[in-house]
Amino acid sequence: MSVLIDHYGRRLNYLRLSVTDRCNLRCYYCMPEEGIAFARKAELLSFDEMERLMRVFAHLGVNKVRITGGEPFVRSGLMPFLENLVSLEGIDEVAITTNGTLIEPHLRTLLHWGIRKINLSLDSLSRERFFHITRRDSFEEVMAVLHKMLDAGFELKLNCVVVARKNTEDILPFVALTRQHAISVRFLEEMPFNGGDHQHAASWNHKDILAHIQQHFTQLEKLPAEPSSTSVNYRVAGHAGSFGIIPAFSRTFCGTCNRLRLSATGELRTCLYGPPAINLRDMLRAGADDSLLQAAIIDAVSGREKDGFAAEAANAAIHHSMSVLGG
Ligand code: SAM
Repeated sequence: MSVLIDHYGRRLNYLRLSVTDRCNLRCYYCMPEEGIAFARKAELLSFDEMERLMRVFAHLGVNKVRITGGEPFVRSGLMPFLENLVSLEGIDEVAITTNGTLIEPHLRTLLHWGIRKINLSLDSLSRERFFHITRRDSFEEVMAVLHKMLDAGFELKLNCVVVARKNTEDILPFVALTRQHAISVRFLEEMPFNGGDHQHAASWNHKDILAHIQQHFTQLEKLPAEPSSTSVNYRVAGHAGSFGIIPAFSRTFCGTCNRLRLSATGELRTCLYGPPAINLRDMLRAGADDSLLQAAIIDAVSGREKDGFAAEAANAAIHHSMSVLGG
């Protein structure tokens, strides 16, 4: 087995796999409300193709996969794919990022397969603001599934994209939620990936978010983080859960980033801010064998930029939606 190491000595062992570009919500920071050009079915990697590629990645030392999208659970056939994925040799961990609207019927099965780590996207604890942000009235069902997941023993993180005049009043209630619940809330800076005309205006950065929390919760403990963690994590003394702040736009974590992204149409990115390095679907459909695919991935990794700023400078098409990039 080989491992993927980039030009700057970073080992890449974590893949985010987007299984669809479609979503049943329309979060303003991610997608325009209408007029989205979704990929045609034939353009999407089939689940068989994904499984084959996951084997190739596992041979290259990728041992952690996060399933994302779009909303993963809108794609039919996801569950049989996950069942196969968890038993692939070399894959130690399968995690999921979801908006929570469609996962409920699958909770028991996911736990049974050992899929315990779920990132649930939730930008507000107010039904009105949730509706304003997602353009869908799904707040009650998402809150219900959040509590079900906690009760069932999932390791739950909440992803909350913080933006001025949208949801900054939710920051303190989210931190308060960690008092009784063993949950980790992660506040993200907004990134410029919305696929439409929403103006990204880097409003609250990671320092603003922390300063705001510190004004109200004075006893914060900084928590040790994994070397490749993108979040800086804290616990309010006495709270059961914790919170983290992800400088997704400020990009202070690139030096230890261990992530690769594979889009639903086969584009491999070595940085969220960069262009695709290669399209693995096209190679696969042109008949490439596993060793050719491996060589192409190694080559893509060797061309990885130093950080998200350098990758952005090399990218002409930064306006993609996160649902295309694979969040
Ligand atoms: N549909 C799933 C969900 O809602 O979690 C998975 C896909 S979604 C694109 C993955 C994550 O990307 C979500 O937590 C979402 O909040 C985040 N995201 C999307 N667009 C973003 C943006 N422009 N800036 C920051 N985070 C973004």
